[in-house]
Amino acid sequence: MEEFIPRALGFEVRLAGHLAIPEEILDSTRRQYLAEAVARLVAYRKSERAIGLLVADADAYVPGLNFVFGLAAPSLGVATVFLRRLRQWTDRANYVERVVKEVLHELGHVFGLKHCRNRKCVMSFSNSVFEVDVKSRAFCRSCVRKLGELGIEVSGEFAI
Ligand SMILES: [Zn+2]
Ligand SMILES: [Zn+2]
Repeated sequence: MEEFIPRALGFEVRLAGHLAIPEEILDSTRRQYLAEAVARLVAYRKSERAIGLLVADADAYVPGLNFVFGLAAPSLGVATVFLRRLRQWTDRANYVERVVKEVLHELGHVFGLKHCRNRKCVMSFSNSVFEVDVKSRAFCRSCVRKLGELGIEVSGEFAI
């Protein structure tokens, strides 16, 4: 995180330490956290002007979906990424690559980007790890332009 986020988006990253997720927001039948509740927890803990990013070794869902790899709450300035399913059916190097993609994807949502129809764009929606593998870690031209309008300059390495 401290390495690729500044490289991709030019932001400074400060590690805020660990956050214990209370059992109350664990759905004990599903063994999954309610993603919105986790996002609210991060919002409560972060400093006001910062964007909060939580990467959790957990599985999570939102009502209506079996699971989510992450959830962004733009109104709270929070991005969350849940690692449990990203780790499935792959090796270490590709797992790390998936985490990079999902972190940039959720941060993109925090900055107001919607899902992108370009399957290679990091902002395309992924319903499975295979779809995560299909997309790249880079933003397409249209998404780069939208970020640019917000004053966020995506480095060439992270642009298609
Ligand atoms: Zn998304
Ligand atoms: Zn795009």
